[in-house]
Amino acid sequence: MARYTGPSCRLCRREGQKLFLKGERCYGSKCALERRAYAPGQHGQNRKKASNYGLQLREKQKAKRFYGLQETQFRNYFEKAAAKKGITGDNLLIMLETRLDNTVFRMGFASSRKEARQLVMHGHFTLNGKKADIPSQAVKAGDVIAVKAKSTDSPKFKEIREMTISTPEWVSIDTDKLTGKVLSLPTRAMIDTPVAEHLIVELYSKN
Ligand code: SF4
Repeated sequence: MARYTGPSCRLCRREGQKLFLKGERCYGSKCALERRAYAPGQHGQNRKKASNYGLQLREKQKAKRFYGLQETQFRNYFEKAAAKKGITGDNLLIMLETRLDNTVFRMGFASSRKEARQLVMHGHFTLNGKKADIPSQAVKAGDVIAVKAKSTDSPKFKEIREMTISTPEWVSIDTDKLTGKVLSLPTRAMIDTPVAEHLIVELYSKN
């Protein structure tokens, strides 16, 4: 399936929840969901109560959109999560959270996951001193992500040096050196993604 190229805010309005797809704008009064908190389209304001299947489907769509993945990629993550030991829903969220692009976002080196993906693909980071330009690459405890030396003088990263960034407890950053470390793999409790993953497990378990 092709990547969605329409307005990002429409996706938030469809899910009825902020997915934080547009960086700074998401935190201000210009957020479309603040102004039009109903689903897009002609019948957006007359939504019927969703069926159980509808709820499961929406939760899957929300998680997929939150992390900016396509259906096949997301389904592959689910299959891998189900094959691992432990709770499938937890495994799924931990795998999504530890993607390189998401980790860069969590470290505050990008204002959205979309921007993080672009920065990674454009080769602005290293992972443990080596080139890292694959957004889906999984990070592990002890990994060090750094902004490449030749990118540190760009306006984007100069600005980050001036910022105070709060990060989740599983990563730490040094804004002066523009580096970040993965302290541990996140547990489910450390992941604030607003998703009821059991609904996604129920949905995929039927198919
Ligand atoms: Fe979603 Fe951000 Fe648009 Fe608000 S501004 S609707 S959070 S993408």
